[in-house]
Amino acid sequence: MPVAAGEDPATSGDRAATLRELGERGLIERIRRRLGPPGEGVLVGIGDDAAAVAWPGGTLLLTTDTLLEDIHFRRATASFREIGAKALAVNVSDIAAMGGEPRFALLALALPPSSRVEDVDDLYAGLGDTAARHGVSLIGGDTCAAHDRIVLGITLVGGVDGDPVRRVGARPGDTILVTGTLGASAAGLAALERGPLPVPEAVLDAVRRAHRLPTPRVAEGRLVQASRAATAMIDLSDGLATDLGHIAAESGVGATVRLAALPISGETRRVAEALGVDPAAWATSGGEDYELLFTAAPAQATALARRITDETGTPVSVIGTIEPVAAGVRFLDETGRPRVVRPGFDHFA
Ligand code: ADP
Ligand code: MG
Repeated sequence: MPVAAGEDPATSGDRAATLRELGERGLIERIRRRLGPPGEGVLVGIGDDAAAVAWPGGTLLLTTDTLLEDIHFRRATASFREIGAKALAVNVSDIAAMGGEPRFALLALALPPSSRVEDVDDLYAGLGDTAARHGVSLIGGDTCAAHDRIVLGITLVGGVDGDPVRRVGARPGDTILVTGTLGASAAGLAALERGPLPVPEAVLDAVRRAHRLPTPRVAEGRLVQASRAATAMIDLSDGLATDLGHIAAESGVGATVRLAALPISGETRRVAEALGVDPAAWATSGGEDYELLFTAAPAQATALARRITDETGTPVSVIGTIEPVAAGVRFLDETGRPRVVRPGFDHFA
């Protein structure tokens, strides 16, 4: 967003004195204003899933994501192999959300001195699993000692043939689509943390797997980009409510989502029932599903959805419509009444 004339970037963010008051989004917005317009060659700067820069021979995509022990993962509920695999997968997902192809990764690693060498080997085995699956080469990184908890910071470089699909571009009347299912990761986390549940092991396994190792939708994202039919796209890392809010904010639009249209797996519903939770709340606010949310004109949306499913086997669901900005972002229940939905994850909230 451009800085308004006469506005001091240092004071934007209003009167917030701490990050708790400012929030994660407020902080990023403040940094964006402070840094000002992006330099020459920057096609997409702050405010999307990855940055895009013009490079001889094509467009480079760059993204970085950090995983912190006890925030993003717990050693009690994830193996080192799973932690490594997920750390790279969530970065791959941001490249997928631009419609690109992931290629080269760097890993900055902070480990407590008491860490077991074998665990570090397992971490790299997990990184290797995801790298091999998506054609990524791990080409370097950085190592230092952590006080007591592990930190993994991954930088991933990818490429896109033509224009990346941005968070900017959704238009009122566009159809909102989502790949796969929503809420399974939140169901998996609940299953891991809340102990034994009266649910068949195969059901628990399915949701735990969705949480421990999300599948980035690279092939699906590339089809969305190549179609030129999509107007905007984001990956669902922080939950539908928050991430659709990013498309709305960046595109200057509102949105209506029908809760009854949200794709929720039978396994997620079973776990929700056992815990007395509304599965729609996991689907809207749970986060970490790493599905792709995208928008397209209604005339092209159905054909695009069908092509993705035909070529990848991944289901694609129509969940709502982009509205004028004045409508805000709304979630409607079966009777058409707006339902208040909890926002997704904010690091400082
Ligand atoms: P995602 O959830 O897709 O990984 P983020 O919420 O992490 O996206 O980031 C949104 C945007 O803000 C991205 O363009 C990212 O590069 C930018 N961003 C996040 N943190 C910072 C920071 N500390 N400095 C500059 N840009 C940042
Ligand atoms: Mg993202």
